[in-house]
Amino acid sequence: MSSMKSIDEVERLVRKLDRERQARLEAERIAEIATRSALHDNLTGLANRAMLDDILKTSIARSRRNHRAIGILFLDLDRFKNINDSLGHKVGDLVLKEAARRITRAIRSVDSAARIGGDEFAVVCEGAGGIREIVVVAQRILDSFADTFVCEEKEISIEPSIGVVLSTEESTPAELLRDADTAMYQAKNKGGRCFEIFDAAMREVATQRLALESSLRAGLRTHQFTAAFQPVVCVPSGNVRSFEALARWNHPELGAISPELFIRIAEDSHQIEELGEQILGIALRDFSGWLHRRKGPSDGDLPILSVNFSPAQLARPTIVPRTLEAIDEMGLAPDRVAIEITESTLMVDNDVVAANLKQFSDKGLRLDLDDFGTGYSSLAYLKRFHVDVLKIDRMFVRDIETDFESRAIVEAIIKMSSALNIDVIAEGVETELQVEILGGLGCHWMQGYYFDRPAQLDALKHHYATEISADAVVCKKSAEIKH
Ligand code: C2E
Ligand code: MG
Ligand code: MG
Repeated sequence: MSSMKSIDEVERLVRKLDRERQARLEAERIAEIATRSALHDNLTGLANRAMLDDILKTSIARSRRNHRAIGILFLDLDRFKNINDSLGHKVGDLVLKEAARRITRAIRSVDSAARIGGDEFAVVCEGAGGIREIVVVAQRILDSFADTFVCEEKEISIEPSIGVVLSTEESTPAELLRDADTAMYQAKNKGGRCFEIFDAAMREVATQRLALESSLRAGLRTHQFTAAFQPVVCVPSGNVRSFEALARWNHPELGAISPELFIRIAEDSHQIEELGEQILGIALRDFSGWLHRRKGPSDGDLPILSVNFSPAQLARPTIVPRTLEAIDEMGLAPDRVAIEITESTLMVDNDVVAANLKQFSDKGLRLDLDDFGTGYSSLAYLKRFHVDVLKIDRMFVRDIETDFESRAIVEAIIKMSSALNIDVIAEGVETELQVEILGGLGCHWMQGYYFDRPAQLDALKHHYATEISADAVVCKKSAEIKH
């Protein structure tokens, strides 16, 4: 009978149905993966930003119904960029995964964690009776970071800064995240590895920061920046090795703004390249003018100029030719200029930076390593980049009189540098006792308020022997030291 299907036909039909079923299952599987990856962070498996928004909306609605606030924690890992730059992205990724694991373990089962940016995480704490409950969670997260991370056999210590906020009846997801972020910023400002609870005055600070960012832009347009100079002095001869140029900003309404603050704002808002270029120009102009006015017979022992360079400046492909041109325009030889970079710049995993640093030293510029002892240094880098000088961070010098460990660290840095044939400068020298201790440990180049505060070059001159015939600049203050 024609309606009767042959075995062949039945088999074909079964195969077709089976294929269709397979295709449907596959489509469902793909849809599930797509939904999951649209809502989850691929690296850590935590909720992502989109899902966090959903969680927040649901939690806020629930909290309005049962009149129990929710708490938001905003976490940012301190100096994560250093790790990523110096140890590579692979280690960076492992650190992020481990951070996610520790956060997840530290929170309660009713809470949710999300990764919302590179090294930023958020936690939503449900049904909080008050801020105390949230603070307990924040503290537990901090505690969970106390043990070092071990990634690819490297021991890494990393801790978060945490901003904490409690919802009110009117809170929206965006406001809660913004306020928790603001509080996190405060925690960072306090040095990190701590939490801060949001209060309204903080919002004021955040607004001021934004205002400063645009003032900075205007300041660059209208050339409000200047350079102050601070000598590096040899003890006991008093010879000045170099003058460090330090950026100064005299804001038309607010007055002098701390360089620590405006350099950070310039870096965060991508204005540091422009600022760095202006400061370099000003420093070269002031320094060469001062040098020419002295008209010494030889310039062999005359001071050199050192200028601070930020990592972003060194990542510019044109930085070497532009700097050399600026030096040349002022009639200076490249070996009269040192660039100061921090350890993290040196260890940046970036070929452009490495090539630029090499070109700078090939052209005769000196390389001073600033704030030494505060980063993740490795001795190999010191050799690879032809570092001329290590500047021991003032944090160690400050405590050298009283703290045995600081003294031991300074001593170790001095011994290591001498073995590698690298000079050392102690930064932030303020007292005669520090001068004596440093001298005793074999460090003879010093910079700090004890000798001079940063000032205009011409204002510094009364401290120095400035006879026209002298072929070195000598700091009189060092002659006063009892030996
Ligand atoms: P830095 O390069 O380590 O500069 C030394 C800082 O230590 C200066 O702070 C200087 O005024 C301060 N200082 C010197 N002697 C003493 C002392 O005896 N005691 C104490 N407590 N401090 C002392 P300043 O001028 O506030 O600059 C802070 C930081 O801002 C600099 O640290 C540098 O990292 C950055 N900076 C300044 N100018 C520039 C610039 O033109 N470009 C870049 N990229 N960074 C800059
Ligand atoms: Mg410096
Ligand atoms: Mg320094």
